[in-house]
Amino acid sequence: MTKKLTVSLVALSLAVIGLFLFRYQVALVGMSLAFSLGGVPDLLPAEEEGDQVVWHDDYYTIERLDSRTIAIGEPRYYQQNISYLILGEDRAILFDAGAGSRKIRPVAEGLTQLPITFVPSHFHYDHVGDGLPFDRIAVVDLPHIRSRANDDQLTLTWQEHLGEPEGFDLPTFSVAEWLTPGTNVDLGGRVLKVIYTPGHTTDSISLFDAAANLLFAGDFMYQGPLFAFLPNSSLGDYDQGAKHLSDVVNSETKIYGAHRLYPPGAPVLGASDVKDLQNSLMKIKNGEQETQGLYPVIYPVNDEMTLWAEPPWLQNWDATYPDQ
Ligand SMILES: [Zn+2]
Repeated sequence: MTKKLTVSLVALSLAVIGLFLFRYQVALVGMSLAFSLGGVPDLLPAEEEGDQVVWHDDYYTIERLDSRTIAIGEPRYYQQNISYLILGEDRAILFDAGAGSRKIRPVAEGLTQLPITFVPSHFHYDHVGDGLPFDRIAVVDLPHIRSRANDDQLTLTWQEHLGEPEGFDLPTFSVAEWLTPGTNVDLGGRVLKVIYTPGHTTDSISLFDAAANLLFAGDFMYQGPLFAFLPNSSLGDYDQGAKHLSDVVNSETKIYGAHRLYPPGAPVLGASDVKDLQNSLMKIKNGEQETQGLYPVIYPVNDEMTLWAEPPWLQNWDATYPDQ
């Protein structure tokens, strides 16, 4: 082998290793370029949303899931976010707030007189409403988050937020309330259990209203592609999150996610979808699940969901915070 060829092969190998070591940064730069060249996708046309859904304006939709639960939809934003206003007798929670390209706070405040606490299901930019949408913010209490929140001021990292390509700055939260996984949040006459559902990110939570049998799952599961290949994603965490959900849901539980694929309204998933996700994860772990693509690889779950993950040789099956 000539010296020149050896140098070329070493350089190529280093480039490939570098590409994989810094794959998230490379992807972020690629996305930034795509958004700066092509712009943020145009608003989707307004579709027929059915009788249950009312247009708030030309952008937001309102869907009353029951007398104390309201889905606030952004069906024209390309990610089709759905945030949930959960009302008690003393206060309300807004679970997720969209990307903030339109302000959601006046929409939520127009729906209730109760004081509203904003709770992000996780810290991705398309859930935190472009910064500080509410006076009172509650976030999950995990060691890697709590340890860097001096005086309860929490500045997100780019890996947690991922909003730079779409033009959103890293927010700093003034945290009023820390939500310990496994504990209850009392809204007055309504209790929500904080369920730790990592996988999409290490900081993801779901909220479960056992009395109403409603589960709000954020990006852990919804109708569409579930992203398990992002900087804070892992399949071991996904496995753990699915287990935590399977521990609380039953055949009547209605599961509402933070995105949808098509109208009308906010689609409902159920316990069988959790089971399908668990089965799919087990098959992936055992190398028995068919795949499409190279990176991310796409695994089927069922008719409503696919799981987008890193290829097997990059998959991590350890839980970041194992159950005790
Ligand atoms: Zn997300």
